[in-house]
Amino acid sequence: MRHVKNPPNPYDRYSAEYVGEPPPTKLEVFEETATKKVITKAFASDWEGGWRYTVNCYRGCVHGCTYCFARQYHEFLGYGAGTDFETKIVVKPNAPQILREELKKTRDKMPHLDFSFATDPYIPLEAEYKLTRQCLEVCAEFRVPTAVITKSPLVTRDIDVLLKQSKVSVFFSMPFLTKEKSNPFEPYTPVPEARFRAMKKLSDAGITTGIGIAPVIPGYNEPDIPGLLERAKECGASRAFMSMLHLDTDSIEDYFVQKMNERLTASRVSRIINTIKRERGGTLRHRSYKERGTGMTEQWEVTQKLFDFHVRRLGFKGHEAPKPLEEPVSVQPNLF
Ligand code: SF4
Repeated sequence: MRHVKNPPNPYDRYSAEYVGEPPPTKLEVFEETATKKVITKAFASDWEGGWRYTVNCYRGCVHGCTYCFARQYHEFLGYGAGTDFETKIVVKPNAPQILREELKKTRDKMPHLDFSFATDPYIPLEAEYKLTRQCLEVCAEFRVPTAVITKSPLVTRDIDVLLKQSKVSVFFSMPFLTKEKSNPFEPYTPVPEARFRAMKKLSDAGITTGIGIAPVIPGYNEPDIPGLLERAKECGASRAFMSMLHLDTDSIEDYFVQKMNERLTASRVSRIINTIKRERGGTLRHRSYKERGTGMTEQWEVTQKLFDFHVRRLGFKGHEAPKPLEEPVSVQPNLF
């Protein structure tokens, strides 16, 4: 049983605390029909040439990864970054129509569209709503190159639409090799093996696939890196990137630490916290946006070399991480 638990929302003047046990969480789905834009100019990157533009048909994510940086976006809606993010899901039923109208005006300037960064485009609700699928159909029509980043095998439902894209890659976010390692941080996601099976299915169908080892949690999952890359290679992946854990706001930090304390031993938590602090110069948070995806110590360099070595050994192509070059410009609050 999950109970409602949210860090104080920094955009609210007051925050409430329950006297006694908080109520159990329940899934609530809201349809947002006032949406005017679905394409967001998110951030500049040195990956695949230039600005990243993203499309998100949902807000919130039932997968509930404790490290998720998208948790902060729920606070703009007046919800919490904790269990609210995982259970109050906003759906944009008009997303495909709006995307078509936007692409009619912007197609010539649109180098690439990413389906990710604010939610998983294949949360279970997508099975019913089919909004990501319909948006991909629009992208195929306008011949916009696309990328999908997901943790869900539901993406295999859309192999037919993915094959119609002018250019497409599907990345599976997989920071942990086993269910046991994943569970404390990704309690409601499909298990790693299910993601690998989906990766193989897409690769066998001729779709470019990749693995995102993100986040690397210092002191926890570095040893998984060689095995993850090997398993991804066996499943036909040709691309890989890695990035370090970044806790972008106080709320996310609070929730991340609280969930570690609930699910890991005290000695394990203390090792992880101390290792992150070493990488961040004494705190759990990065000092600047540019330091967000990398560490500061020689230990991080060793981790990077470990990744690079196995990427070369296994023959991954274009393995550089999608490192943002500067602060996001319009990520929030008009991300959606
Ligand atoms: S699947 Fe992605 S969007 Fe969803 S909670 Fe996990 S990291 Fe966040």
